[in-house]
Amino acid sequence: MIIPLEHKVFQLISEIVTVNDLQCYVIGGYVRDLLLKRPSKDIDIVVVGSGIDLAKTLARHIGKKGRISVYGNYGTAMLRYDDLEIEFVGARKESYRADSRNPSVENGTLADDQNRRDFTINALAISLNRETFGELLDPFNGLHDLEHKIIRTPLDPDVTYSDDPLRMMRAIRFSSQLGFAIEKKSFEAIKHNRQRINIISRERIIDELNKIVLSPKPSVGFDLLEKSGLLELIFPEFDRMKGVSVMENLRHKDNFRHTLQVLDKLAEKTDNLWLRWAAIMHDIAKPVTRKYVKGHGWTFYAHEFVGSKMVPEVFRRLQLPLGASMKYVQKLVLLHLRPIALVEEEVTDSAVRRLLFEAGDDIDDLMLLCEADITSKNDEKVKLYLNNFKLVRQKLREIEEKDAVRNFQPPVDGELIMKTFNIGPCREVGVIKNAIKEAILEGIIQNDYEQAYGLMLEKGRELGLKSD
Ligand code: ATP
Ligand code: MG
Repeated sequence: MIIPLEHKVFQLISEIVTVNDLQCYVIGGYVRDLLLKRPSKDIDIVVVGSGIDLAKTLARHIGKKGRISVYGNYGTAMLRYDDLEIEFVGARKESYRADSRNPSVENGTLADDQNRRDFTINALAISLNRETFGELLDPFNGLHDLEHKIIRTPLDPDVTYSDDPLRMMRAIRFSSQLGFAIEKKSFEAIKHNRQRINIISRERIIDELNKIVLSPKPSVGFDLLEKSGLLELIFPEFDRMKGVSVMENLRHKDNFRHTLQVLDKLAEKTDNLWLRWAAIMHDIAKPVTRKYVKGHGWTFYAHEFVGSKMVPEVFRRLQLPLGASMKYVQKLVLLHLRPIALVEEEVTDSAVRRLLFEAGDDIDDLMLLCEADITSKNDEKVKLYLNNFKLVRQKLREIEEKDAVRNFQPPVDGELIMKTFNIGPCREVGVIKNAIKEAILEGIIQNDYEQAYGLMLEKGRELGLKSD
């Protein structure tokens, strides 16, 4: 079977390897994605011989338009050319020992190199040699598995996963990303070897986990993580959300299932990784706040507050970044009940103003999360809630136009307060500032200078301050 390789760089490489009498192939993810019609910019080239030498020769041919980086320790080189990232490596044979995921490596043939690949769909190669240019080399029936949407390892899966346990995460990630099924024997082997995930660094695990979070239907990946027992090991807080308890015939919903539904619904609306993380975390404190109140039912009192406090420890352990994105997730977790509370009670101006003030520019994301959070099986109820959310959104727009509290800047600031009363920084300044903010949010005064100035004078007098 001949696969057309459009980009001129493949021709160029082919000419070089012909002149130098080498054997060379495109291999792995690029070939897989080409056959799946998923455009990709990462190309892996394997050559029987030195990858670095080939990359250097190609870089000389290309001249200024290419930028080469050489990684001597790994025997690889990367060439950036157009918008492509082309990685060159010599064909290698790997053997593993039990205590490490770093194999011992020796030079090998194309077949050796294909043998060390994780899945049949990732072992596909296309020839760049002149006589066979474009020919697909598929020793493990990867094409068949691509067509039938199967994740399968070329060799015994028990050995494959034990050798490099990151492959368990990769199997589940590909399943979620591509909508493929993991072959039964393979999945059994993942269950078997799950404890070996402990030898993998957290950075590599989170890379794969984030790819699952960003996949079209993330519940596919999380379901597999849960069923394999990996979730318990890498993200126990999430695993703990499983299950339903019953007391006096009252049951609460399964919060794991519910969270996955919210995540999937949100994934239809946004590619924002952190908003998706906010969905994962929004009910994370339900297991620790859960109480049964006799005659009343299940409660999860303050779970939004406790949950937002749990975000940093979870992020730290997973090695997610601890900066602005974490703050954003914390904020959404903390506020996730507010729009629904608005809907259930009365949509008063002051409640809407407060919500706008606290959510700031993240208000639209918060609304998306809250709309996804409605997972009732009762269609009427869902319709009612969504309709009420429309009202909330409308009200948010009206209030924002009128009062501009979304990025609230006090119309009278601390400087002016100190100057007016001829005082330095002290408690009274804070008291007055807060009184002005509260009055604006409550709708007692409007968000403008005149009214805020008046209130400042009044509060100052109450506090026994003198103005000139
Ligand atoms: P993506 O680029 O979408 O993450 P990919 O399959 O291209 O997917 P890379 O990490 O770019 O993943 O790896 C390129 C190729 O290297 C893979 O297709 C596979 O053949 C091989 N590979 C990567 N990681 C492993 C591994 N842990 N074990 C065996 N082979 C691997
Ligand atoms: Mg890749």
